[in-house]
Amino acid sequence: MCRVPGPELSLPAAAQRPAEYGHDALVVCDNLVRIYQTEAVEVQALQGLDLLVHTGEMVAIVGASGSGKSTLLQVLAGVDAPTAGRARVAGHDLLAMSRADRVRYRRHVVGFVRQQTSRNLVPYLTASQVVDLPMTLAGVPRKERRERAGRLLEAVGVAHCADRRPNQMSGGEQQRVAICVALANDPRVLLADEPTGELDSETAREVFTALRTANRDLGATVVVVTHDTAVSGQVERTVAIRDGRTSSEVVRRLNPDVDGEHHAEEYAVMDRAGRVQVPREYREALDLTRRVRLSLEADHVSVRKDGGESSR
Ligand code: ADP
Ligand code: MG
Repeated sequence: MCRVPGPELSLPAAAQRPAEYGHDALVVCDNLVRIYQTEAVEVQALQGLDLLVHTGEMVAIVGASGSGKSTLLQVLAGVDAPTAGRARVAGHDLLAMSRADRVRYRRHVVGFVRQQTSRNLVPYLTASQVVDLPMTLAGVPRKERRERAGRLLEAVGVAHCADRRPNQMSGGEQQRVAICVALANDPRVLLADEPTGELDSETAREVFTALRTANRDLGATVVVVTHDTAVSGQVERTVAIRDGRTSSEVVRRLNPDVDGEHHAEEYAVMDRAGRVQVPREYREALDLTRRVRLSLEADHVSVRKDGGESSR
């Protein structure tokens, strides 16, 4: 077959500059900082966090309590404003949004599910009514609202709750309805902050299945904060946050050699200054302490215990 020169050959010089960090990602956090100022102390909840999420992904965020997970989600949800750095979701710059932009952003671009089941719903509204609400605010015609609410409740297995109020539903049903509320206006990104945190493992599985449905069938890119290893074990990518920064990532791929087997590869995240965190198990296994010996090999970098020829 004859090859026709591609259009890339005639691109102007400007287009050939190195692309901006995360230019093709749906969610971009670049050196993100959030400092909470209280009377006497300053808390750096996010200390230069980098994160990219691509369209169609489902990513789990894990990390110890206080590591900045909720702060990150609130920034991405447009509920909280970062102090410095760059945060962009579907082309919206979260550091430079007007109040009106923020309202539109929260209504159309992102959906947010909180951990506390009671905070996601309204006590006196039925499931149909509460899913209808964001669409009413967005000016969607009544017929369309009713159809979409019905479809969403059906998709996550809570159609039987349509006429029930929160106190007539189980915790898992409430969280699945909350997912429908978050999806009502067909957002690009669904954010969920420990949505299964208050649930037993069986119910948690149902909620996780609903998030999967949102991702696979309803087209939402999903970012879910979780403590639940059963959840993080099932998503393709798990990002660990430590002290307000992303520290490592586990990527699961379908192994072509072993039918249907997922195998996990662990990656460390390197920041702009080249800093990498060596996982504790690795440090302990080789007794790596303050100073280590680095050497550049043909295709890798080796890290060895200081002063020892023996350890490789
Ligand atoms: P996580 O969700 O991982 O447990 P958070 O994002 O809630 O962590 O909190 C990160 C850090 O920021 C913690 O030290 C927490 O105490 C602090 N923090 C969170 N929200 C506030 C706030 N509104 N005011 C002051 N400090 C806060
Ligand atoms: Mg939290």
